Amino acid sequence: MVSESRGLSVENLTVIYEPGAAPAVDAVSLDVVPGQIVALLGASGSGKSSLLRAVAGLVRPSSGAVRWDGADVGGVPVHRRGFGLMFQDGQLFPHRSVAGNIGYALNHLPRARRRARVAELLELVGLEGYGERAVSQISGGQAQRVALARSLAAEPRLLLLDEPLSSLDKALRSRLASDIRAMVTATGTTTVHVTHDQDEAFAVADLVGVMEDGRLVQLDAPAALWSHPADAGVVELLGQGPVLGSEQMEAWFGVTASGEAALAPGSLVAEGPASGSTGLEAEVVASRFARGSTELEVRLPDGRTAEAGADMEHRPGDRVRVSVRPDALVRLGTPSSHHGQ
Ligand code: ADP
Ligand code: MG
Repeated sequence: MVSESRGLSVENLTVIYEPGAAPAVDAVSLDVVPGQIVALLGASGSGKSSLLRAVAGLVRPSSGAVRWDGADVGGVPVHRRGFGLMFQDGQLFPHRSVAGNIGYALNHLPRARRRARVAELLELVGLEGYGERAVSQISGGQAQRVALARSLAAEPRLLLLDEPLSSLDKALRSRLASDIRAMVTATGTTTVHVTHDQDEAFAVADLVGVMEDGRLVQLDAPAALWSHPADAGVVELLGQGPVLGSEQMEAWFGVTASGEAALAPGSLVAEGPASGSTGLEAEVVASRFARGSTELEVRLPDGRTAEAGADMEHRPGDRVRVSVRPDALVRLGTPSSHHGQ
């Protein structure tokens, strides 16, 4: 079967490491069109690296196919696929300079061309003037920029990044995530970026694919993923709050909703002391002041807790009245599944 699709096409890919073990990758199909950046987001052990490694050719799939521009690359060895790879620890060559690392794969070029290309890559990753530095004399963030430049040096048709920022601290990670997007966009490089950090996935990608137990459970643009998570697993991964069925929503908050909805941040408002007749009377479990407003953790009738905004501080044990802002609820199910409801 020859597919007409351009770019990367993963078809029904399954990876099983040991006979009888659960699949690490379970019948995943995924297309990445040229120039697109797709992030694979999932908890540890969900199969992200296994999928990426199978695409790269480092792991042999049990079934399914990996195609580029429609051609099956299953029999093509790693170094002939034209794919660039980069991992959490960029694994720079310690005895080479920054320029020596970046130019490593450019041995075939004449000296002057090679120097010009390295200079171009240094500029791309924001490290002009760092070429002669030893890699022991640069920071962790700079090292990952060098590793990225090295991966881009050979102009890969597909760039595969496995948790490239996970060894960096949070603030640096979010800045570098935006930089990675800018750098791969500037070069038009088709990219698959694996991460367990939703902020990183949202900052980097055109589309985010959510992995759960080896399966790709949802693939959507960041805003669509956030507003319409496919199931309770995605809601939990995104930290969007407890999921309520329509009966609970009606009984506790008097709000009519079709299907399930998550009590996402901003969807509950608490007023106290408990009085009035609308909304749910609930116990305060915790209260904290953050970013200019008070956030309460309140107990739901089934024992779970949810976040509620409040205009005053409360103490654990206080009773408050909690109401729902329906606009801020997150409905479960992909946008298309909402048609006709
Ligand atoms: P992630 O990158 O999302 O953390 P992995 O792809 O590393 O997930 O792992 C998926 C599953 O496959 C896990 O259960 C893991 O223990 C298992 N696994 C990963 N690599 C191997 C391996 N080389 N041999 C056997 N099992 C593996
Ligand atoms: Mg991994």
